[in-house]
Amino acid sequence: MPVSIAVADPILLLKDLIRSPSVTPQTAGVLDVLEAALTPLGFAVTRLRFEGDGSYPVDNLFATRGSGAPHLLFAGHTDVVPPGDTATWTHDPFAADEADGAIFGRGAADMKSGIAAFVAAAADAGNAGRGTLSLAITNDEEAAAINGTVKLMAWAAEQGHRFDFAIVGEPSSTARVGDSIKIGRRGSFNAEITVTGTQGHVAYPDKANNPLPVAAAVVTALNAEKLDAGTAHFPPSNLEVTSIDVGNEVTNVIPATARIRFNIRYNDRWSPETLTAWLHERIAHVEARGTKIELIAPRAHSRSFISPIGGAVEKLSRVIEKQTGARPELSTGGGTSDARFIAPYCPVAELGLVGTTMHKADERVAVADVLALTALYAAFIADFLAP
Ligand SMILES: [Zn+2]
Repeated sequence: MPVSIAVADPILLLKDLIRSPSVTPQTAGVLDVLEAALTPLGFAVTRLRFEGDGSYPVDNLFATRGSGAPHLLFAGHTDVVPPGDTATWTHDPFAADEADGAIFGRGAADMKSGIAAFVAAAADAGNAGRGTLSLAITNDEEAAAINGTVKLMAWAAEQGHRFDFAIVGEPSSTARVGDSIKIGRRGSFNAEITVTGTQGHVAYPDKANNPLPVAAAVVTALNAEKLDAGTAHFPPSNLEVTSIDVGNEVTNVIPATARIRFNIRYNDRWSPETLTAWLHERIAHVEARGTKIELIAPRAHSRSFISPIGGAVEKLSRVIEKQTGARPELSTGGGTSDARFIAPYCPVAELGLVGTTMHKADERVAVADVLALTALYAAFIADFLAP
């Protein structure tokens, strides 16, 4: 199959991707660049626009090649965060300048080079292996993430795609490409507790009921007991109170309502349901003194997940060890990513670059790192799809 140099070379593809200023949710041609790279490699490309659910419309891309099991999925995003004040950049954020052995530009690290590396690796692998190779690419990971990966995965499942393993190309490495892969994430649970008393004049406290002392007792109760002591692959879960508000602008009014907001980063021992039960239990111990204490649990959660350590994760670790000489650390650290939307369908691991400059001015990636990541992806594809 004739493959142009532009397609097989991850650096040329990366430059083309960076030159499309695809700040969420604008695609600015970035999916056209990707489709043009994938089609000559034998991928059937489907472009999907999802909209609704209180968010802006988002363009997504699904590409697939081959048939049957095993089915390897690569997932990622082409959208980027805004460049910020371009005066703080030494290179145009959308010019993809090459200098000092690096490519500069917004998305260079997070995560257009991950996509370029995987496409180049897929070109390398050709159609020799058995099974199926697919890509699920969204243009909305950095913002609402409502019309992106979550709907793309549901659509793919509806089409009958059954994935055996997924690699998310987000920056996962610490100091050297492949030194760390992410195999799970903590969940994030935002909620608030309101304490409602009776508003009144500070001079007549008997005619009012101040919610603030009760709110203080609620905060104390929330912090009185640790959620857990950590699990095999996760640190302890943690509840952090982020705000206590009454919105009181004056000095002579007892406020009616106090609002306590908090976030819980939780490990694989918990779910939003068990956390809600735990919170109700904590609140039940607080003396309400005639006020009403209410828990307002979140509508949307990001659940904790962990991929099985054996199987494909072990296969990936072995391939990385063979290529780099060292086994990767299996990490669950960092903020949330779209991997949480893939975890319900198949085991998933994040393998990507060192992300030191992501979201910063002068975001850049070393050419050598893109080539190293391409080699890792290529070795894994070959291993995973080997007959
Ligand atoms: Zn990213």
